[in-house]
Amino acid sequence: DHKAAIIDGKAIAQTIRNEIAEEVRHLSQKYGKVPGLAVVIVGTRKDSQSYVSMKRKACAEVGIKSVDIDLPENVSQDDLIAKVHELNATSDVHGILVQLPLPNHINEEKVLSEISIEKDVDGFHPLNIGKLAMKGREPLFLPCTPKARLEFCIQTQIDADAHTCTILSNEEPLLSKQYSHKIVKAIHVQGCIELLSRSGISIKGKKAVVVGRSNIVGLPVSLLLLKADATVTVVHSRTPDPESFIREADIIIAAAGQAMMIKGSWIKPGAAVIDVGTNAIDDLSRKSGYRLVGDVDFQEACKVAGWVTPVPGGVGPMTVAMLLKNTLDGAKHAIAQ
Ligand code: NAP
Repeated sequence: DHKAAIIDGKAIAQTIRNEIAEEVRHLSQKYGKVPGLAVVIVGTRKDSQSYVSMKRKACAEVGIKSVDIDLPENVSQDDLIAKVHELNATSDVHGILVQLPLPNHINEEKVLSEISIEKDVDGFHPLNIGKLAMKGREPLFLPCTPKARLEFCIQTQIDADAHTCTILSNEEPLLSKQYSHKIVKAIHVQGCIELLSRSGISIKGKKAVVVGRSNIVGLPVSLLLLKADATVTVVHSRTPDPESFIREADIIIAAAGQAMMIKGSWIKPGAAVIDVGTNAIDDLSRKSGYRLVGDVDFQEACKVAGWVTPVPGGVGPMTVAMLLKNTLDGAKHAIAQ
């Protein structure tokens, strides 16, 4: 019986977090700088609060200073923007994260676009996404979730860059101003190589299908795959017969938010399946009354795919690790200026 390799996002994320902790120690010993992440929450939504406390705890674990900004539900848009401007100007804050969703009276898009792109650790700023889309331009940060996906997938694209990476790290890159832009990428790539050497999946020349085209997952992940030399098809709710496209894919990124929509029979044997979907379905055998499943039928996928990420425990844990990584990269970028 075929059994797909299960990509253990939790273990890989933990490895990355350990490396980040090590680098944070190094930065503070050598340069007296501690990376700082401002985590802004508006109101008291339970789910947002639990995400925010998880992120703050993760910062503490790796030695990143978290600057906690808790604003009341009725804060005005102007006051929130003023806060963002203040954080933009605070030199020991290297990343700014505004927890979404914001209350209805606030325009999310407006607020996010006020975050300095240098500190846009979520990678949501239109300029960062735009640079991601254009050939030859590199965004400073990539959205945390798609970046996590790429950490799983990139391989051959990296070979040339891997060389750059090695050279940079031997040369004490933080002292070299002209390298500062490359550092962000090189460091990101080092993480990729580490992950990929475990999973052994390459992207270059592969057929990738992304299911979903949202601004936060589907669209940026498709752009990333394109940058990594995959041939990319994006399937969405208006695509007739999505199965016919998915069946062709060497790499499937599922981000539709549709519980177990992708069946085993839709998956090409040996394909790599990265399941971003996080859907709660009724499960009366659980105390909570529900359980989380992905967009892929995991049990079936295990019988066909080459690799598959579980839900939970796949992409999810990587998101926070990437947030920490982006904050660290932001601090390095600031030091190199
Ligand atoms: P979203 O904004 O609802 O977007 C869903 C996308 O999927 C849309 O582009 C939609 O098409 C498409 N879609 C919906 N039903 C489809 C179908 N039957 N066939 C093909 N495409 C379909 O969701 P999102 O914010 O991108 O999130 C997607 C999933 O990822 C959710 O389950 C979310 O919980 C999860 N997520 C996980 C993480 C993580 O860290 N693990 C992070 C973020 C999100 P249209 O554009 O035509 O509407």
